[in-house]
Order: sequence, then structure tokens, then C-alpha cells
Amino acid sequence: MLFIAALFVSCLVTLLLARYAWVRRDAPTARAVAVMMAGVSWWTLCYALELLHSSAPGLAPEPGALPLFWFRLMFIGVVLLPASFLVFVLLYTGVKERISAKLITLLAVEPVLVVLVALTDGTFHDWFLAGFTSDSGQPFRGGPAFWLHALYSYVVTLAAYVLLIRFIIQSRSYRKQAALLLFGGMVSSLANILTILRALPEPLQGLDISPFGFLVTAVLMLLNIRKQGFLDVMPIARSLVFEHMADGVLVADARGRLVDRNPAARQFFESDGRRLLRGEMVGELVPGLLQGHQFTPELEANGRILSVQRNLFRTGTGKLRGIVYVFRDVTELKRTEADLREKLERIEELRSALKEESIRDPLTGLYNRRWLDEVLEREIPRALREQRPLTFCIMDLDHFKRVNDDWGHDVGDRILVALAKLLQDGSRKQDVAARFGGEEFVLVLPGIDPQSALEVVGRLRSAFSDMDFSPGGPVRLTFSAGLACVPDHASDRETLFRMADRALYQAKEQGRDRVVIATADDGNLESGESA
Ligand code: GH3
Ligand code: MG
Ligand code: MG
Repeated sequence: MLFIAALFVSCLVTLLLARYAWVRRDAPTARAVAVMMAGVSWWTLCYALELLHSSAPGLAPEPGALPLFWFRLMFIGVVLLPASFLVFVLLYTGVKERISAKLITLLAVEPVLVVLVALTDGTFHDWFLAGFTSDSGQPFRGGPAFWLHALYSYVVTLAAYVLLIRFIIQSRSYRKQAALLLFGGMVSSLANILTILRALPEPLQGLDISPFGFLVTAVLMLLNIRKQGFLDVMPIARSLVFEHMADGVLVADARGRLVDRNPAARQFFESDGRRLLRGEMVGELVPGLLQGHQFTPELEANGRILSVQRNLFRTGTGKLRGIVYVFRDVTELKRTEADLREKLERIEELRSALKEESIRDPLTGLYNRRWLDEVLEREIPRALREQRPLTFCIMDLDHFKRVNDDWGHDVGDRILVALAKLLQDGSRKQDVAARFGGEEFVLVLPGIDPQSALEVVGRLRSAFSDMDFSPGGPVRLTFSAGLACVPDHASDRETLFRMADRALYQAKEQGRDRVVIATADDGNLESGESA
């Protein structure tokens, strides 16, 4: 009776485990575990009812027409086990990522046949139970069909064990877990073999203890599920992700000792003299990673630049459990980044050179008219706003056509360059000298009133007229200039141009080689003449 009670308890435990797994059926192996546990549970239940029937027939009735009713039904559960265990191992070890309908059908052939044969035994044939009856009290004897079934089951189970053993050898990280599963499976196999071969000690002789073997398997799986959550975190996913990821991963315990590392991490940090040994301090294995309690977000190792990410793992109570460092190789990224930055700088240089070119006169290097317009657009409003004068001066070389005609164009150019240099050198930083076009130049003099400008330009005029371009050119050359001022003569660019130009015309009219200030009424032009 104690044995029967134990069977019922075992039945309940495996049933609960089946439910536990079924609830988590999104995890690939969970369905296989659920089917397996349901099979064991069914087996245990039927076996318990069969035993109960033979010891107390009233408690577990059996249809009279079908002797060994419970015993036969039991095989519906039994036949599920080898196939579901194989499916579980196929998924667990990653040999298969999913189970095809074809494989399920193939694996279902033998169980369906066995159940059919078992249920029809005694009616049409004696292949399975070999004339065994429950009343005779004699131990169960299997017929040829039973032994074929046993052989098939062990071939399938053995195949699963081989896969599991191979996985244990290959996988570093899940070795212990897989070994535990192998052990659990073997406990049930051993219990089953002992039962079939009738090698049990005296008090158990004649009883089938394999359900308890499966209970051990179930409990070990339950522990595994609880402790390591293997239904949630698939080792195959772990090995795929962890072993093959390009990022290096180092796992340290709460005290900073290395617990695990993946191949990428070894490639990053290991060299001839240095190995990532488990148990050593991560801070020492990876120089430069830690500065006190801080970690560097970027470091260099074996000529690579690595970005570092740190994840702290805590227990439910907030206690530190471990640290996971993830290292990403950003060497290429950095190189590309530097390249890009360099290219951007170059583009910026070119852009400003282009801008500079577009506002410069190629012959003299002075600003051109385009820039002049921009300067005036900016400076005139400012002068008006700040109530400061701004004088605009336009200069034109006297009889320059003759220079070209008499001395040649090259000499003319040389003289233009010389005047440009004179204007540039003779003006202040805030002044703008520009080539207006041809042999006409301008000076923008912010903050200078026309009287002061008259002096400034007068000085330039005499300095220019003192220049001697011989030999190869004229001995003396002069220019005339017209001045106009904001706000006295104009408050916009066009008027300023026109007034200065008119003053220049006056200077030419009055005999050249002089500077003339525009007047509002145009009637009274002041001038600074040559000596
Ligand atoms: P004035 O201004 O005194 O009335 O007489 P001008 O001979 O200077 O007369 P105008 O201003 O009309 O002549 C401009 C001359 O400047 C015509 C052209 O030969 C010369 N010129 C204009 N641009 C250049 C240039 O880039 N290089 C050289 N060499 N000569 C130029
Ligand atoms: Mg001219
Ligand atoms: Mg001229």
C-alpha cells in the first residue's frame, strides 16, 4: 500500500511539473518536458490503479472483459517517454532548432503501434503480454512485441544520451547543467532496466520502480528549471549568442574575479604572455579597465580600440551578484570617424578658399566689387546706427590708357599691383581696400569723416605719385579720387557710389592728381590738390 501511495504522490508531482512546463511552452524545450512529464504521470497513475485493483479491486474497478485494463492503458504514457526525451535533447543541445512535423510523425509510428498492440493483446494475439494475467500474481513477462518496444526505446534513449554527452564535452558553460540532466535520465533508465531484468532486491521484487526513476528525473529537471531557469534561458541561445558574438564579454563575480569570458574577449585581451584565467581579478587581466571603482568607457588592447559597457547584476535584495563587461571593437568606427573629420576639415578649408577666391581680385589680391557690396551693406547701417561717419573713396589712375599704350599691358598690371599694395599697407585694419574694376580702386574708411579721409587719401596720393616705375615704366604716375560720406552725403550704397563718382569726375575735371569731397548740392567741391 505504501508503494501505491508513493506512486500517487509521484503521479501528482510529475503532473504538476508537466503543468509547470506547459505554462512555459514558449520556451522551445518546454513542450517536450511537458509531454514527457504527462507521460510519466499517466504511467504512474495507471500503474497505481492497476496495483490498487489487484490488492483492493473495489477501489479501482476494471472492466471484466478487459483484464489488465489499467496495465494496458499505462503504455499510452510509457511510449511517449523515449520520443519526448529525444526531442528535448535535440532542442536542448541545439542539434535542431525546431522539430518538424515530419520528425514528430516518424517518432509517433512506434508509440501508436505499441499502444494498438497492447490494447488488442489477449483479444487477438498474445504478442505483448505473453499470457500474463493480473490474478496469477506471477511477475510480468513480455512477449516479442514488448521486447521489440524495449529495444526501440533504448535505441532512441541511447541516441539522446549520445547527443547529451557530446554537448557536455563541447559546451563549457552548461556542462554541469547538462550532466545533471544526463544523470537524471540515467536514473530512470537504470530503474527501468533493473525492473525489466528483475534484478531488484527482495522487497521490491515483482514491482516496477521505473516511475520513481522518472520522478528523480523530474525532480532534477524541476531543480534545474528553478535554479537556472533553463526553460527560459536556452543554453543553445546562450552558446549561439555568447560564443559567437563579435563583442567581447567578461563576466565577473561580485568581488571582481573572472567567472566567464567568450572567444571574442579572449581575442581582444589574450596574448602570448597573457591568458584570461578564471578566478583572476578582471581589473588585472584587462589593464586600464578600472580606475578605482570607475571603469573606462574606452580602452586600447592589442592595437584595437574597444568601447566598454558595464552591467551590474543584483539579487532580489539588491546585493551585487556579478558584473558583465561588454567590449565592442570600435577601431574601424574611430578610423572612419577620424577620416570623416579630416575630410570635413579639408572641405571647410576648400570652402573658405573658394569663398576667399570669389571675393578677391586675382591680379591684385584686393577684395573685389562683390565683397565691397557686402561690406557696404553691413557697414552703412552700422555707421548710421552708431552715428559714426563712414567715408567712401573712389580712385582712378590718371591717363592710364597711355601707360598701357606706351609701356605695354604688363607694365600697366605691375602698376595696378603696386597701387593695391600701397592701399593695403597704408590703410588700417578696419578699412577695406578693393579693386572696383579696371584701374579704379576704392577705400572704405569706417569711423573717418571726410576731412580726415582727405588727409589719409592725400597721403596715399602723394606716396603713389612719388613712386618711380622706371626703368620699363613711367617715372611718375598719379591718381584722382572722389570722397563721399555717410551720413553727410548718402545713407545708402547707390547714392554713396554716385556721390563719390561725381566727386571723382570733378577731380578729373579740375586737372587730375587730386582728391575731391562731394558736396550735398554738388556746387562747392573741396579739393586737396597736388603740390
Ligand atoms: P583718365 O582716367 O585719366 O581720364 O584716363 P585713362 O586713360 O585712365 O582713361 P580710362 O579710365 O577710361 O582708361 C582705363 C584704362 O585702364 C583702359 C585700360 O587700358 C586700362 N585698364 C583697365 N583695366 C586694366 C588692367 O587690368 N590692366 C591694365 N594693364 N590696364 C587696364
Ligand atoms: Mg577709369
Ligand atoms: Mg583712368
